[in-house]
Amino acid sequence: MEPDNLEPSNPVSPTALVDTFSRPMRDLRISVTDRCNFRCRYCMPKEIFNRDYEFLARDLLLSFEEIGRIVTVFADLGVNKIRITGGEPLLRRNLEDLIGSIKGIEGIEDVTLTTNASLLERKAGSLVAAGLDRVTVSLDSLDNDVFMAMNDVGFSVDDVLAGIDAAAAAGLTPIKINMVVQKGVNDHTIVDMARHFKGSGHIVRYIEYMDVGTTNQWCMDDVVPGKDIVAMISEAFPLEPVDPNYTGEVAARWQYADGTGEIGVITSVTQPFCATCTRARISAEGSLYTCLFASGGTDLRSMLRAGASDEELSDTIRSVWTARDDRYSQLRSSRTAGLRKVEMSYIGG
Ligand code: SAM
Ligand code: SF4
Ligand code: SF4
Repeated sequence: MEPDNLEPSNPVSPTALVDTFSRPMRDLRISVTDRCNFRCRYCMPKEIFNRDYEFLARDLLLSFEEIGRIVTVFADLGVNKIRITGGEPLLRRNLEDLIGSIKGIEGIEDVTLTTNASLLERKAGSLVAAGLDRVTVSLDSLDNDVFMAMNDVGFSVDDVLAGIDAAAAAGLTPIKINMVVQKGVNDHTIVDMARHFKGSGHIVRYIEYMDVGTTNQWCMDDVVPGKDIVAMISEAFPLEPVDPNYTGEVAARWQYADGTGEIGVITSVTQPFCATCTRARISAEGSLYTCLFASGGTDLRSMLRAGASDEELSDTIRSVWTARDDRYSQLRSSRTAGLRKVEMSYIGG
């Protein structure tokens, strides 16, 4: 298989666990539920995620104890960052308990959460008390009609902003705000979003709409390329590029020339970053995935429930990661079209 310019530029220690393209395993994203109280049309369209849709039964979800065990093994293999996601992670009762226990695991330096903010105003204080380091809030437009049409459950912009304010007051600054940009849906509100958060200390991250899962009818025409997003904002508020904070940072950074902050642009479609992808994922039912676009995972839950030792779990994870050759976004083309892929709400964004 040709390398497709896939050459990681970060130096890797000779003992680190690396995949077939020398990419180390550093981050773990854990989906704690496949359920959500939103029905974002690009993620969980109502036509499919309706009353007849079968979400995972309670006993199929990993328990907090099981997640803790898995994190301990991953930490031992070099993972130091954990992101809790879903579905909507704050729907999982007592999530604070999970955050507290993950924070206590040796080797874990950073515990973060991605949320639609519907429950954030209520929970920000207890999440911080439990040890949450950072939060990313999804907000696709500041135009209430546009946002309500996108989440498709009538949740208002003001309620998300209240969640962001509560998180900031609780000390989770700077907050990252994810806006998925869809042509003809919310791209006319890109500059408003920049204007609103400019000078706030928070960082808006514009995300190219991706072809995750199989339910959102994605097509390339719906994607606004990151370079167009930067040009649009720059016309109103001049931007200049900034170096990444670290190798493998997903968002390209741009700062306002007047010094009032920065934005990020995530160009997974037009400028893929598979070469530096260090992320592993655990689905809500405990399967290990090595790519957001994977069609299959490795069932760790069955191993756990059959009494596997930490060493056996570690050996399995090690063999999955060392065999990893995923680079879906780099190969996105007719070669990958038509593949069965898991849904984002299941694998975790
Ligand atoms: N429910 C939480 C939320 O929305 O923040 C966490 C899970 S959600 C799957 C994680 C992130 O994935 C969100 O920021 C969401 O906007 C993004 N996302 C979902 N579907 C996407 C798609 N098709 N393309 C790009 N981003 C997507
Ligand atoms: Fe729910 Fe997040 Fe998917 Fe929207 S993007 S439907 S909030 S999981
Ligand atoms: Fe990583 Fe897969 Fe996304 Fe490439 S397509 S950046 S390998 S998750």
